[in-house]
Amino acid sequence: MSPNDPDIRAFFDTIPHADLSRLGSAVISALPVAVIAYRTDGRCVLANEAAARMIGGPLDQVLAQNFRQLKSWKDSGMLAAAEAALADGRTEHIETECLSSFGKRFSIEIDFSPFEMAGERLLWMVGRDVTPQKQAEAELRASQERLQSLYELSPLGIALTDMTGHYIDFNRAFLGFTGYSADELRALDYWTLTPREYDAAETRQLRALTETGHYGPYEKEYRRKDGTRIPLRLNGVLVTGADGSRYIWSIVEDITAWVETRDHLHRLVGDLDASNRELEQFAYVASHDLREPLRMIGSYLALLDRRYGVTLDADAREFLAFAIDGARRMDAMVLDLLEFSRIGRTADPFAPLALDDIVAAALDNLDVAIRETGAVITVARPLPTVTGARSEMLRLMQNLIGNALKYRAPDRTPAVTIATAEDDTAWTLSVADNGIGIPEGDRERIFDIFQRLHTRDEYEGTGIGLAICRKVVEHHGGRIRVESQPGVGSTFTITLPRR
Ligand code: ADP
Repeated sequence: MSPNDPDIRAFFDTIPHADLSRLGSAVISALPVAVIAYRTDGRCVLANEAAARMIGGPLDQVLAQNFRQLKSWKDSGMLAAAEAALADGRTEHIETECLSSFGKRFSIEIDFSPFEMAGERLLWMVGRDVTPQKQAEAELRASQERLQSLYELSPLGIALTDMTGHYIDFNRAFLGFTGYSADELRALDYWTLTPREYDAAETRQLRALTETGHYGPYEKEYRRKDGTRIPLRLNGVLVTGADGSRYIWSIVEDITAWVETRDHLHRLVGDLDASNRELEQFAYVASHDLREPLRMIGSYLALLDRRYGVTLDADAREFLAFAIDGARRMDAMVLDLLEFSRIGRTADPFAPLALDDIVAAALDNLDVAIRETGAVITVARPLPTVTGARSEMLRLMQNLIGNALKYRAPDRTPAVTIATAEDDTAWTLSVADNGIGIPEGDRERIFDIFQRLHTRDEYEGTGIGLAICRKVVEHHGGRIRVESQPGVGSTFTITLPRR
């Protein structure tokens, strides 16, 4: 339907002129676009509210303006466009920025059209304030520029490929990883850069990508243009373009330094393992082989004592007794050392161990000491089941409970409490006593080999028990520590990882 349809024209012909004129004014004033009509000498004859809003002044002042005298028209090119429209008799379109005489700045799209009315030539201006669109466009441009510079300056490589592996876009860092020029890379595909041994891994990552929409972190190598390889870590997402095709965005990180550090660490750990094994072997062989000559010294000293003891004077007999005692002590220490060096080397396999059973067996072995001291032992049953080597865990519990009895306070009945706690990652096992306690400065060194806080006259022992405890705990991936209050008691706490 157009106003030129015969039916419509017939309809309008029936309407009185005055009504048509009112309809025209109502439509113009209701329009959301600015409409202003001027005489050719520049005087304004009509303007709507939208025009006043756009220019930023009251309607009556807008109506009082003459465009030929407005600086804003000259500066913005509107005057030239208006003149051109009047001269050519055609609609003239212009997009410009304008600072109105009311001080408002805006972006505008205008059509100037000459129009004959009642024998006079008028200039119609229809304008649209496009400031918000222009601002949005400017912001979008700025944000795109920011993203573009991030993309280009990022030390991470970024690349867009299609599903066949062809490169569509990539940043400078990515190009640097490959060693190719941009044109060369565009002619290549992803598979050219990927060494064949990654085929299976590639297939897995592609499957993950199609199933979950992303892949990685995935470590691989690229074959560079010069044939060398570069280790990389990749992460990527699947995206769908406007045309419905699927693409892959990949973020690529050069992990050369990381790989070098990791390999170096592996080598160091390997060396450390080897030297640890050597040391353990040495301790084992030395303690094992030392016992034989030591036994010989011990037995010949004893023989000397038996056969010739009576012929010796008191001093000589005392010296002989010291020598015999020294040989016996040395044998005990060598035996302890042997036991220490055996931890972690036994054939005892790791298996689930009910700590209740282990503690019961340890208490059984300590039965005599418990009865002699009248100790009260409290076990917070049920204790959990942990994974470990049975003989080692038994040794650990026996040493800790044994020490709690040995280092009891002389004036009170020994009380020992065995308890556990757990969280998501670890078991905690504690052995608490009410014994003599351990001075603060000694709480680390008591776990070292042959470290004692007392003479043999005060307490029997070689100082290896806690060193064995620590080695057992470490062999099980755990840690041991002690808290203590001298004169009140000590609590040994073992933390074992849950497996
Ligand atoms: P040993 O008992 O043969 O001396 P350990 O290695 O078992 O060797 O203990 C080292 C030292 O730690 C002991 O000499 C003792 O001074 C101290 N100690 C160990 N357990 C306790 C305890 N429960 N209470 C007080 N002191 C302890």
